[in-house]
Amino acid sequence: MTHFSEKLTNWYAQNKRDLPWRNTRDPYRIWLSEIILQQTRVDQGTAYYLKFEEAFPTVVDLARADNEKVMKLWQGLGYYSRARNLHTAAKTITDVHKGDFPRSHKQILELKGVGEYTAAAIASFAFGQPYAVVDGNVYRVISRVFGIKTPIDSSQGKKEFNEIAASLLDKKDPGTHNQAIMEFGALYCKPASPDCNSCIFNNVCHAYRNNEVQTLPVKEKKTKIRSRFFNYLVLQKKEQIIIRKRRGNDIWTNLYDFPLIETSSELEEEEFFTSTQWKELSGQLDFKFSKVSPPYKHILSHQHIFAKFWLIEPKGSLKKIAPAASVIVNVSDLTKYAVPRLIERYLQDASLI
Ligand code: SF4
Repeated sequence: MTHFSEKLTNWYAQNKRDLPWRNTRDPYRIWLSEIILQQTRVDQGTAYYLKFEEAFPTVVDLARADNEKVMKLWQGLGYYSRARNLHTAAKTITDVHKGDFPRSHKQILELKGVGEYTAAAIASFAFGQPYAVVDGNVYRVISRVFGIKTPIDSSQGKKEFNEIAASLLDKKDPGTHNQAIMEFGALYCKPASPDCNSCIFNNVCHAYRNNEVQTLPVKEKKTKIRSRFFNYLVLQKKEQIIIRKRRGNDIWTNLYDFPLIETSSELEEEEFFTSTQWKELSGQLDFKFSKVSPPYKHILSHQHIFAKFWLIEPKGSLKKIAPAASVIVNVSDLTKYAVPRLIERYLQDASLI
């Protein structure tokens, strides 16, 4: 065991948080927690983990579940491809591996939605195999303690940080070492204002000794943010309303929203009803326009969505105007459908759920 690992795991033994997935070596539960915790805060993720664990006690239960149920349970957590991949991988484990979670690192890596980080986490936490995890916390700790300035989002950086992480790993207890370094990054060596004054590494930490804490780790590329303008058509007649299931490779696949007109900028009422898209979609539709919602802003990692909801009551039957892939449902049934957080916010504001 390296001196670094010894210090780290001693710190971990005294400071670790008691989290439900830390009290098990069941690979299914560890995998579930890891997928849920990607891009998610621990306090938010814990509630979802407990819901999934209760609804699907085994991987076979998850595999056999209806996809709508899986998506509904995931609602609000974002990055919905994780839920779709989780369900697909559960089916692979059930059908191909006969319900036994694969033990080999290679087979774990082949599961849909499992990348290098998650495979290393499952292999080390559940099976004690010597694979080092490298997530955002690990990049930050290694970069600061050892003064590594190679950009973490470059291929050279990935290689270099992986090698250092592997060289630091305690091969006898890789699971504890991996959890310790991630916990240390999450609780101590935080992105902003880390607790350097009382840190166990401050006598050797390169960043602390050279006043480089704020500049490490280095990132090469800035995330490009794209703005999108959504005009949702809330086509409602008394107790009935049209929703549609999202398809294709855009955001929120398999979740429900409303028929949509996307425009290149935010539209006011007159611009909206004279727009080509509205005319094409509405055709000969005879309708009564009730109101438009205030603009909603919804932030995703690479996109900012600006949405307005246009409440429209068609004069004829809803069936005649329902666009492709849409369904007519009772307002009282809306809570049964998995919807993105943006739609949920609108439905709540409009007292529809
Ligand atoms: S001294 Fe500060 S920057 Fe260095 S490892 Fe500790 S918390 Fe991180």
